[in-house]
Amino acid sequence: MTASHAPTTAEELRGAGLRVTAARVALLETVRDGDHLDAEGVASGVRDRVGHISVQAVYEALHALTAAGLIRRIEPAGSPARFEGRVGDNHHHVVCRSCGVVADVDCAVDEAPCLTASDDHGFSIDEAEVIYWGLCPDCSTARSS
Ligand SMILES: [Zn+2]
Ligand SMILES: [Zn+2]
Repeated sequence: MTASHAPTTAEELRGAGLRVTAARVALLETVRDGDHLDAEGVASGVRDRVGHISVQAVYEALHALTAAGLIRRIEPAGSPARFEGRVGDNHHHVVCRSCGVVADVDCAVDEAPCLTASDDHGFSIDEAEVIYWGLCPDCSTARSS
């Protein structure tokens, strides 16, 4: 048994300079346990954990945690924003055109090479948003049968 302990969710919130509330702890845990949930999915997960929370409060907490870098927001075109707990590695996403399911895709070559633009126009770049579109296995099977 090791003596070092992983920070609790509450400690992570505090470490990010955020006020710790039961709803924020529940929200962070919901996003991390979930698979690219949209705000509605997050709200229902938070309600399962702490009871009633207003949609407004969910949006505020999502905004605060995203701004603090604890969660990441992705917004595939034509789909509601999704939230995930995997942050800081600039991974990409593959999105199904038919059912909207989202899956993680690592950078094709090692260390976030997509951050190295062929021409950065003098910007200091910290994120590259790459979304691969296509049909998920379920949807392509449904189409071909
Ligand atoms: Zn699909
Ligand atoms: Zn992801």
